[in-house]
Amino acid sequence: MELLSIVVPCYNEELTVDLFYTELVKVLDTMDVDREIIFVNDGSKDRTLEKVLALRDAHPGEVRCIDFSRNFGKEGAMLAGLRMAKGDYVTVMDSDLQDPPSNLPVMLKMIRENGDDVVGTRRVTRAGEPKIRSWFARQFYKLINRFTEVEIVDGARDFRLMRRYVVDAVLSMEEYNRFSKGLFAWVGYQVEYLEYENVERVAGETKWSFGKLFRYALDGIIEYTEAPMHFCSWTGAILSAVMLVELIVLLVMSLCGKQISSAVLIISCILFMGGILMLGLGIISEYLLKTYSEVRKRPHYIVKNYYE
Ligand code: UDP
Ligand code: MG
Repeated sequence: MELLSIVVPCYNEELTVDLFYTELVKVLDTMDVDREIIFVNDGSKDRTLEKVLALRDAHPGEVRCIDFSRNFGKEGAMLAGLRMAKGDYVTVMDSDLQDPPSNLPVMLKMIRENGDDVVGTRRVTRAGEPKIRSWFARQFYKLINRFTEVEIVDGARDFRLMRRYVVDAVLSMEEYNRFSKGLFAWVGYQVEYLEYENVERVAGETKWSFGKLFRYALDGIIEYTEAPMHFCSWTGAILSAVMLVELIVLLVMSLCGKQISSAVLIISCILFMGGILMLGLGIISEYLLKTYSEVRKRPHYIVKNYYE
């Protein structure tokens, strides 16, 4: 039988772990796959670990656990879980039941029957979420998608069913700053989305403060867009070129005996210098960008198949 690995990052989830396990197993029992459930305790300060270990004792071989020395964030927890997962299919799920286990059989059916490499899930509503947060989220997707080469789908969750080789591809990206929504999009492959209505968390509260989300969004933009850096070069180049032409015109005019106001001359010189400086900054940032992509050690490409 094929093996399905379920990776579950948990941070202060003592209230949800048991509920999640019960609901999940109910669904898994109806599916024709073997399973392993990998809980990653991301430095919880409550009794999450205790709860997970109790599950593990009750179901040896089925429940596995990774315990972090402190809170490293969901990205780190997902990475550890994906590294440990041995399944032919691997999925990541929140423990708060916001990723409905009932989607799993549908996703598995889609991946098997439609020849997809990945079946993702996408929330089509954000009901129950603060309005302001939804607004910022929408702006974030608009902004990042305008500037990136890969599409980061609005509402897509980390809850996605991946075939083994897709997980290996994601793990082959060795960068330290991991923005999963970007990594998942970057590796490509044939992805189909299962759409569903937002579900509210069963218990406990969200671990994402507005500040944390803002930093997360900023990470995504910095990791996946180069446009802001090119902007500097372009504005600098255009500004200095325009001002150079203007200065030449002024020079010719004064040679022809026209009176030029010194204010115009000074302002033109300042703008010209400003343009040159911006261009310089732009050039430096282009080098920075190159250095950045070198140290990030992303693979040059990802091959799905060799046909030989
Ligand atoms: N999580 C984690 N480490 C963190 C923050 C969150 O492992 O530092 C886990 C959390 O326990 C949950 C999942 O990531 O299983 C999603 O978090 P949450 O439900 O709080 O986010 P939201 O659904 O509100 O975006
Ligand atoms: Mg949640």
